Amino acid sequence: MNKRIGIIGAGTAGLHLGLLLRRHGVDTTILTDRTPDQQRAARLPNTVAHHAVTVERERALDVDHWPVEEYGYGRHEYRVGPEPLRFSGALHAPSRAVDYRIYLPRLMEDFAQRGGALEFGRLSPDDLPRLAARFDLLVVCTGRGAFSEVFERDPEYSPFTAPRRALCAGLFTGVAQQPGRAVTFHIAPGAGEMIEIPTWTRGGLATALVIENHFGSALEALATRPYEDDPEGYLAMMLDLFREYYPGCLERIDTAAFDLADGPLDILQGDVTPVVRRGHAVLDDGTLVVSLGDAHATVDPILGQGANMASHAAWVLGEEIVAQEVYDTRFVEHVDRRRADRVLSATRWSNHMMENLTAPTPEFQEFLGALSQGGTLTDEFTDAFNYPERAWDLLASPERTAVWIARHTGRPLN
Ligand SMILES: Cc1cc2nc3c(=O)[nH]c(=O)nc-3n(C[C@H](O)[C@H](O)[C@H](O)COP(=O)(O)OP(=O)(O)OC[C@H]3O[C@@H](n4cnc5c(N)ncnc54)[C@H](O)[C@@H]3O)c2cc1C
Repeated sequence: MNKRIGIIGAGTAGLHLGLLLRRHGVDTTILTDRTPDQQRAARLPNTVAHHAVTVERERALDVDHWPVEEYGYGRHEYRVGPEPLRFSGALHAPSRAVDYRIYLPRLMEDFAQRGGALEFGRLSPDDLPRLAARFDLLVVCTGRGAFSEVFERDPEYSPFTAPRRALCAGLFTGVAQQPGRAVTFHIAPGAGEMIEIPTWTRGGLATALVIENHFGSALEALATRPYEDDPEGYLAMMLDLFREYYPGCLERIDTAAFDLADGPLDILQGDVTPVVRRGHAVLDDGTLVVSLGDAHATVDPILGQGANMASHAAWVLGEEIVAQEVYDTRFVEHVDRRRADRVLSATRWSNHMMENLTAPTPEFQEFLGALSQGGTLTDEFTDAFNYPERAWDLLASPERTAVWIARHTGRPLN
């Protein structure tokens, strides 16, 4: 069968799917609203780290243009509290972060060079029936927000109807890297979290700061006070807040060199409402369309899971498209069964961490205490950023967490 697949959206979900399908010689078209040059010139869309499992897929797709030996980092540092408690955990293989305004246009060009068709233009849900008629299967990968009304919200896995953090993310100069490079995860109890990511930008290596602010805390101003109104005042506010909340970062900042890496488009302020939607929708005319990536499941970036789970799900969907010939509800059952554990574990783990970092349960405090001892438990937690289903195996209930802690510390169960 000569299959024709249409993909709406050229983010990680759409591109990894499109590239996998082209590897199998499938006739594939990506329809998206921005050209590679428009993506390059856009505001910072996110600050994404790809974990080793995603890097492995990139190698298999022959798009690993930023080898981890040169561009990666191999561990997480953790800093908790005002006199920060310091500990670290190892990854089994390096992760890597590249500014998506470099990464996505390059993969779009790879896709086109490998015979993929690209069509540019803004689409709306009203276009779906017309487009579906052109393809054997239409996949919607338009990210969060756009097309959200097409796919029904799944209340079982969507505990929130509003964001849980006020977010600010940017690319900065003047922050010295940890020795040997690492992601640093800072926790300011009761106020927020901040993740430092060594990130490759147009100007070379810089530091992404993903600042997750609790609503009502002093840190919330980082998300709500517009940077553009007073850039210098905003940077001064950051340094003041870091002095109180993130001293473990401030100690590596050269205040004279601290600035956005490449101008005012290098900062993003806003929020994300976590949601899981159905994996497919049936249009009024009976056509089935599949949701993928953020269009299917959106997580807060606190654990850096969204693009990694999008890539996993793209791989699963691509394999099923190649293996099957009929794209009906039974087809979607196969896809959903295979992507569910990773995607739903990542969403539940992210939600669990946000809730417990906002109002920790006694079990979570015990877990943080065990984590702060370093050692094998901290390594296992850190490496689970690759395998969120393993993290969820360890954290899904107080009993599981207690068994996990006992296994690593030799402490008897209560
Ligand atoms: C601050 C921040 C930090 C993050 N950090 C991480 C991290 O470290 N690790 C991680 O895994 N994830 C991270 N994420 C999440 C990650 O960015 C997303 O999960 C991922 O990019 C989703 O990919 P996607 O392909 O589903 O959607 P997107 O990347 O949003 O792509 C959507 C595509 O659809 C196109 N499009 C949209 N609307 C239309 C339309 N109407 N018509 C045509 N085309 C359209 C867009 O132009 C784009 O090409 C972070 C997110 C944020 C906000």
